[in-house]
Amino acid sequence: MTDARLIDGNAFSARLRDTIATHVQTLRDEHHVVPGLAVVLVGEDPASQVYVRTKHKRTVETGMKSFEHKLPADTPEREVLTLIEGLNDDPEVHGILVQLPLPGHIDSQKVIEAIDPAKDVDGFHPVNVGRLSAGLDAMVPCTPLGSLMLLKDVLGKLDGLDAVVVGRSNIVGKPMAQLLIKESCTVTVAHSRTRDLPDVVRRADIVVAAVGRPEMIRGDWLKPGCTVIDVGINRIEAADGTKKLVGDVNFAEAVKVAGAITPVPGGVGPMTIACLLRNTLVACARQHRLPVPP
Ligand code: NDP
Repeated sequence: MTDARLIDGNAFSARLRDTIATHVQTLRDEHHVVPGLAVVLVGEDPASQVYVRTKHKRTVETGMKSFEHKLPADTPEREVLTLIEGLNDDPEVHGILVQLPLPGHIDSQKVIEAIDPAKDVDGFHPVNVGRLSAGLDAMVPCTPLGSLMLLKDVLGKLDGLDAVVVGRSNIVGKPMAQLLIKESCTVTVAHSRTRDLPDVVRRADIVVAAVGRPEMIRGDWLKPGCTVIDVGINRIEAADGTKKLVGDVNFAEAVKVAGAITPVPGGVGPMTIACLLRNTLVACARQHRLPVPP
């Protein structure tokens, strides 16, 4: 059997960012509106700092305005909420993202719920969660949205396919399942209490792995020819002592069985930021009652 087709998230996300930049230019030229994204970072978590830097760079590259708010780790919750209230009222800000995790003394849910649902480009506000599950227009969380775009690019129509999502988090697993239901897949959501996980995964035409356990899903768990979306990002130590990134799927095994698979890195990862920009563009268009780009 030939190896699986590699799903190139770097190339797809670069094309998506180009399309977004074109729409931003049109908004600017024809409607004198520039989409703006505000990112709030509390504390000095090194991984979060890298994400925020990359988000800023990509936002500016697509012609949008980027507003960064970096607060010290001991910032009181009330101050974060006051900042969010200000961003909600700021007409130059169309999208608000609070980088998670927040320091322990801040109630993340309270902060998420303080964001105006129309500006909630992460799609974590209960209003958007509810709208997505009701099949209504919603701000959709970026990682599942990017994963769905890759799936549609590879498979075209998804209806009738068996999909197994491994992981039930609010930021990946659950919204991914909702999106796949909307596409008329038959969806199973697996988690740490699932019995006979390999057998469950073996039924799937589509496997989405969002577990956070390095290389947990083995090649012999997969149905030959299935499509694998590996959301996992795990930093492990290689045999030679160097650090490397691996997904939740054992890539070397899976590539021999699957029909198509996302690599880690270079698969879902770059789609997340591209979808954040897409959500900011959509939020801006909706707030100005302009046509929403497809
Ligand atoms: P969470 O830790 O919030 O959720 C993990 C899920 O996996 C839980 O539902 C858990 O089950 C389930 N799980 C854990 N162990 C097992 C097991 N042995 N068998 C079956 N299910 C299990 O993680 P996230 O959803 O936030 O992230 C998942 C992965 O995706 C991580 O590697 C993360 O780094 C990555 N990620 C990547 C992004 C990207 O941009 N590419 C963005 C966000 C996340 P239970 O609910 O029962 O505990």
